[in-house]
Amino acid sequence: MPDLIKVAKFGGTSMADAAAMRRCAAIVHSDSDKKILVVSATSGTTNLLTEFASDVSSIRRVEIAKQIADKHYAICEDLRDAEGAKAEIEKILQELNVIAGRNQIMSAMLRDEILAMGERLSSVIFARILTEEIQSPVRWLDARTLIKTDSQYGNAEPDIPEIEEAAKKHLIPKLNEQVVITQGFIGSDKNGITTTIGRGGSDYSAALIAEAIDADVLEVWTDVTAIYTTDPKIVPEAKPITEISFDEAAELSVFGAKILHPATMVPAMRKNIRVYVGSSIDPEKPGTWIVRDTKEHPLTRAISLRRNQTLLTVHSLDMLHRYGFLARLFEVLSRHKISVDLVTTSEVSVALTLDYNINTPGKSRLTEEVLNELKEFCSVDIQEDLSLIALVGNNLDATAGLSGPLFSLLEDVNIRLICHGASSHNLCFLIDSHQDEDVMRTLHKKFIS
Ligand code: ADP
Ligand code: ASP
Ligand code: MG
Repeated sequence: MPDLIKVAKFGGTSMADAAAMRRCAAIVHSDSDKKILVVSATSGTTNLLTEFASDVSSIRRVEIAKQIADKHYAICEDLRDAEGAKAEIEKILQELNVIAGRNQIMSAMLRDEILAMGERLSSVIFARILTEEIQSPVRWLDARTLIKTDSQYGNAEPDIPEIEEAAKKHLIPKLNEQVVITQGFIGSDKNGITTTIGRGGSDYSAALIAEAIDADVLEVWTDVTAIYTTDPKIVPEAKPITEISFDEAAELSVFGAKILHPATMVPAMRKNIRVYVGSSIDPEKPGTWIVRDTKEHPLTRAISLRRNQTLLTVHSLDMLHRYGFLARLFEVLSRHKISVDLVTTSEVSVALTLDYNINTPGKSRLTEEVLNELKEFCSVDIQEDLSLIALVGNNLDATAGLSGPLFSLLEDVNIRLICHGASSHNLCFLIDSHQDEDVMRTLHKKFIS
């Protein structure tokens, strides 16, 4: 076994074209410890495949299939063995063409088969580029033999013991021999049918693999040099963070920072695996280390934003001095697999926030069926187009003097819900979406800069 086992994940922009893939190959080449590589689809491809798998005409499907083929053939052109690479991806592109030509309803199962093609394409090309650059053989591994999941297509739940078993069989014996490259985001259920684990899921795949093989380090190579104090695309004054704790990084990702899939930190925390976030464009620039214990514990470390929130308020006089109401409410939501993020209650009403539906972005998870069930025992009010902003740091629940400045800054903002006290690492509140970027900038100036 190598001394240090590292799992390195390269995101969509890192796979954007042949030059980007070569930069990633150089990162792999410069470090003899790096052994397992997990890659995303080339940037924009999963979005195109999502459109392909949605309710569009077969003419549009044929157009998208061509666009995806052109883009990947163009990358192959930059390879020494361009024809060999093209022939290899042609098999996958042919599967897409066959689906494009058929006029059929897209089931969730077929949709995952389609979405998985992005990672299958990028990983095949990257494996060839890597072989050219590091001049030693690379083993391409189908992630569907490794990431075993349940059958919730579109948002499948990984099966940790099964993944561990599969890693023992298919991955660990290869660690001594050569670099292994596999796909993020995709897996398969117990019948071997392709599943996906949710948009942005490659980070999570890499963390699951790191956990399964007891890796020492998980590296996440992306398009920014580090985790910043907030999204630098929204707040240009954001600063890179040198070191952040598992807990803080978990809060940041769960509360919307796109830099890490919200579940990424869970496997890393279970096995105490250090995570490094760096830029594949500027690998020399210092990145962020995510570790269990940090040297510093600032009150406010970072700010995150999560859009597309739904606020569900239910009201019932039956709640007054009675028990069982919350249990009944949550029973309905849990039976429909609706996950609740924040909750506040009064004597006669409960307000809770829900995320949008991952398979139909923009639409909340509250179907007619769910609403009818709820209306049997309470009145229901729904508000959409809301954003959740979270201040992430340490001791936020036990530090005097924070709420005063915070709420005076937000004087002109209509705050719909506040959550303070449940976690020492975050304080969050819900506001109208149109104000979210201004609020982020104001908070960053006051609490971070
Ligand atoms: P990849 O394709 O490599 O997975 P993503 O686009 O999913 O990359 O995530 C990187 C993006 O996350 C950045 O370009 C940035 O806009 C966004 N982001 C959001 N919050 C943060 C943050 N706190 N620090 C850095 N980037 C952030
Ligand atoms: N390609 C997938 C997506 O765009 C997974 C990922 O990039 O992490 O959502
Ligand atoms: Mg990502």
